[in-house]
Amino acid sequence: MNTGVLDRIRGIVQQFALAAGRRCLICGRRIVQRDSVFPELCPDCLADIRPQTRGYCPGCGMCYPSDSMEVYLCSDCRRSPRPWSSLGFFGPYSGLVRSMITDFKFNARLPLVTLLGRMLLQGGVLHDIQPADVIVPVPLHPRRLQERGFNQSLELARRLVPVWGPEVDVRSLVRVRNTRAQRGLGKKARRSNLKGAFAVRGRRLENKRVLLVDDVMTTGSTLTSCARALRACGAGRVDVLVVARA
Ligand SMILES: [Zn+2]
Ligand SMILES: [Zn+2]
Repeated sequence: MNTGVLDRIRGIVQQFALAAGRRCLICGRRIVQRDSVFPELCPDCLADIRPQTRGYCPGCGMCYPSDSMEVYLCSDCRRSPRPWSSLGFFGPYSGLVRSMITDFKFNARLPLVTLLGRMLLQGGVLHDIQPADVIVPVPLHPRRLQERGFNQSLELARRLVPVWGPEVDVRSLVRVRNTRAQRGLGKKARRSNLKGAFAVRGRRLENKRVLLVDDVMTTGSTLTSCARALRACGAGRVDVLVVARA
């Protein structure tokens, strides 16, 4: 084959790659003008993933009926403060944000992690999350990890290095009991389902500022159990960062 033909083939492949890169990662429509934060999304999909900057509780992230409302602590958080110092999240677990997370998690659509990781970073900036000494993902039980093939929280946590902490620690916080899935359980049942589910191994987190990371916070039972285990082992401070609040 002469070099002219080879060059032509290379040119076609390159054009193909460029065209593919200009298509929206979600809907596949052609992107004419790229957004600076989410260049892989078209304007329609972009409009669907707005961050929550008002109308929520800074303690638990509960979203109030209108996002024109103030940011204030809900009665639950005033009554019993959360075991973390601050909480950051990108937005509510609905619409496109929800379908992206479920697609990533249950259909293993791994390219979405870049996008979700950037949403996590934005959530951290918007809610003024402090830099940590170490980033800790909510662990999966080894059996669940084997079924799914990856831990979505760990994949997201990796996206925060080095902005929110120099390293991800996957060894200290462990899930010692394989609990049934939290989905479909009420608040009380979720809490008892998680009793003794997490433990901290070793002393690496003692006096450290820990950033605990997960994809979604629903009632907060999982994050509460993890944060309590971290504080009990001597973590100096625990902050929480999630992509979405259900
Ligand atoms: Zn789109
Ligand atoms: Zn609250």
